[in-house]
Amino acid sequence: RAAAKNICFIGAGFVGGPTAAVIAHHNPHLHVHVVDLNTSRIAAWNSPHLPIHETGLLKIVRIARDGTLDTTVSLPGLARPVELKAREPNLVFSTGVEEAVAEADVVFICVNTPTKTGGLGAGAMADVSAVEGAVRTVTRHARAGTVVVEKSTVPCGTAKMVRDILRHHRPEAEFEVLSNPEFLAEGTAVENLTHPDRILIGSAQTPSGLRAAAMLKDIYAAWVPPGKIVTVNTFSSELAKLVANAMLAQRISSINAVSAMCEEIGLGADVDDVSLAVGKDERLGPKFLQAGVGFGGSCFEKDILNLAYLARELHLDAVAEYWVSILKINEDQRRRFARRVVRELNGSLRGKKIAVLGFAFKDETNDTRNSIAVHIVRDLALELPKEIALFDPGCEVEEIVEEVQSSELSSAEMERVKVCSGWRECLQGSSAVCILTQWKQFRGRQLGASGGAARQTIKLGGHQLDPATNDVCLSETSIADLEKLSWRELSSQSDDPLGRLKPLPPCPADCSGCRL
Ligand code: NAD
Repeated sequence: RAAAKNICFIGAGFVGGPTAAVIAHHNPHLHVHVVDLNTSRIAAWNSPHLPIHETGLLKIVRIARDGTLDTTVSLPGLARPVELKAREPNLVFSTGVEEAVAEADVVFICVNTPTKTGGLGAGAMADVSAVEGAVRTVTRHARAGTVVVEKSTVPCGTAKMVRDILRHHRPEAEFEVLSNPEFLAEGTAVENLTHPDRILIGSAQTPSGLRAAAMLKDIYAAWVPPGKIVTVNTFSSELAKLVANAMLAQRISSINAVSAMCEEIGLGADVDDVSLAVGKDERLGPKFLQAGVGFGGSCFEKDILNLAYLARELHLDAVAEYWVSILKINEDQRRRFARRVVRELNGSLRGKKIAVLGFAFKDETNDTRNSIAVHIVRDLALELPKEIALFDPGCEVEEIVEEVQSSELSSAEMERVKVCSGWRECLQGSSAVCILTQWKQFRGRQLGASGGAARQTIKLGGHQLDPATNDVCLSETSIADLEKLSWRELSSQSDDPLGRLKPLPPCPADCSGCRL
């Protein structure tokens, strides 16, 4: 099998966009075409304001997309100035799905696979209709011999199913389907893609399956050490992705279960001390052991449901219950947090304003899908507060409004929610501040000193925020940071620390990014 020249990513989302950009950056000889049916998303990828906020992403995209200066030669520490050179652009974003698939040697499927919301398996089974849509396009337009790579997180057995579909509809052609799940975490996507713990490639264990896996391995070998590229069969690969997410979530639920016990035990039992002591054990390690308000986001919950669904299909009910219990603890933690806010405010939120800092599902991202905040806002709104004010430094006001509107809040509850474009407006006159994500600007001295457990993410006390008393979670430094904060500033700081990139081209008058 010859080396790939043209590759195509179907799905320009949180996974497809950054992954394609990093592959293009490290493989200047490859032409990388990222396609999506969503025209506004593609327009944003082609603009100075990317649709996804990830540290370092703008730089990588601009180098590969526009052929702007390659800053790798201008890092500090070089003995003498080096001539900076432009490079050939090799990353294209468009809506031309069929054309891109027709030209590709390798097609990565990076479309969304949420949990089904209706019909058979609703609330439990993965909805693979977007994968099916992508496969239909491949069936109709791909050249014989195109390698299909399943990057989306899918149920176990999907790669084989896709290969059977392709071979059924195109019996004259030979298609290989690989599983290559993505392990990046939003907020650190570029770092994770640049220095992955591992690249996992699953293939059929046949000569042509192994040849296809070798072709994909060559693409990653441009920057990933060979020892980090793991090759297995497609079933193991698909299952490993689900299990990895379930086990990360399981650690969060474990420590959150401990935090609930600490709070009830009293006697000074401190979950952060327990976490510190447990994490020192080399067999366990300290990561994912911080108690908090639970996990949100588009992946953990759906992947656990997917795993539990598989266990049930295999008649392993006890195994299914084990995985589902991770979600039960998570839900309980969120509810406990909301109950705590109400209890601390004398059992009633009537006439009170509650401020919520952090609306995306975690810090360093603008992804609001299944964010913890939505659930907590819903629980708090039931208590009929005067106002629930929301602010996230990474989200545009419209992004938050859209997510709140798609939640199950009644119109009366919705009226109490106000989305703020600045932290000051959000905090002004609040009786409590709920800090729901770990943006560094939110981490005050108090919070930093004793970790991020649920109990201290509530600011209690007076009706006016008074940083001088420092009885709140925000330090004065972090308040000053907050004041300055906007995405434009963040991206210019993190994406171009050396100031070597060309200035951004002027934006059109109606540019939405400039409103920030
Ligand atoms: P996303 O919703 O951000 O992006 C998916 C994109 O696919 C959307 O822009 C959609 O318009 C496009 N799309 C859907 N059907 C299409 C079609 N037929 N043709 C062209 N475009 C189409 O989703 P995401 O967060 O990037 O996740 C993609 C997959 O990766 C999911 O399976 C997810 O579970 C997995 N994953 C996500 C993350 C993460 O952190 N977001 C991490 C690892 C794995």
